[in-house]
Amino acid sequence: MSSMSRLLPRRESLARTAGVIRNTSYARASSARLIPLPTNPQAATNRISPFSTSTRLSCSSHNKPNNNSPASTDKYAAGLNLNKNWAAQTARDHPDLFPTLAKGQSPQILWIGCSDSRCPETTMLGLQPGDVFVHRNIANILHPGDLSSAAVIEFAVHHLRVQHVVLCGHTSCGGVAAALGNKQLGVLDPWLLPLRQVRERNLDLLQSLPADEAAQKLVELNVREGLTVIKQKSVVLTAMQERGLQVHGLIYDVGSGVLSELDSQDTDETIKARLAAFMTEN
Ligand SMILES: [Zn+2]
Repeated sequence: MSSMSRLLPRRESLARTAGVIRNTSYARASSARLIPLPTNPQAATNRISPFSTSTRLSCSSHNKPNNNSPASTDKYAAGLNLNKNWAAQTARDHPDLFPTLAKGQSPQILWIGCSDSRCPETTMLGLQPGDVFVHRNIANILHPGDLSSAAVIEFAVHHLRVQHVVLCGHTSCGGVAAALGNKQLGVLDPWLLPLRQVRERNLDLLQSLPADEAAQKLVELNVREGLTVIKQKSVVLTAMQERGLQVHGLIYDVGSGVLSELDSQDTDETIKARLAAFMTEN
């Protein structure tokens, strides 16, 4: 059976939430001091270290309008130019957005996903800056003792008081493919260890599937494993108990752009045991 066949259609409730988010007030947290990117790509070039890989942008020939120039396909230079258009267009479409965001943030969603360039969470949700607080790493792995993800979760849940925690895996994940192989990958090996442990625990199932379905299945199992880690954090359990924080598992199909929500309902017994083991107090 294909692992995707066990996925449920993404709930309408999340889509409705997205609609609500657009109308929410953003003014809560204190404002952050940010250094804006220069509006002129050449100005950006002039600030780049001579040791940066970006120094090729400083070549004057790259700044001439020439469709055959390497600069015409350089995404960094293109992005700096596109940013000006995007900022102006967004300000026209949503006149209150940037002034409100300048005062602080109040996102409703914490998104934990893969670093993969094909998985831009705010874009795929059709939301705006300020809507999604984000943590991404290779293969969206949650190590129980990882300080980075733990700090993000603590801040988002306890201080920003997000209403949804989303853990999203995706099809065609390179980290998952690596964990299904046996090639040495240096520092990536300890990082991918939890994925290999999931592989070990589900070896018979994964070996019974064609390669593409096994990869798909490990993506799903990895998300389920991560959901368990999230729900073992006392700050999350407290928010679930006291204010109805929701924790969701999603799979993103990079080939279609569509999100599917995993059915991750816990039994009463599981919830009771989890609260007994992981809920702590001041
Ligand atoms: Zn990935």
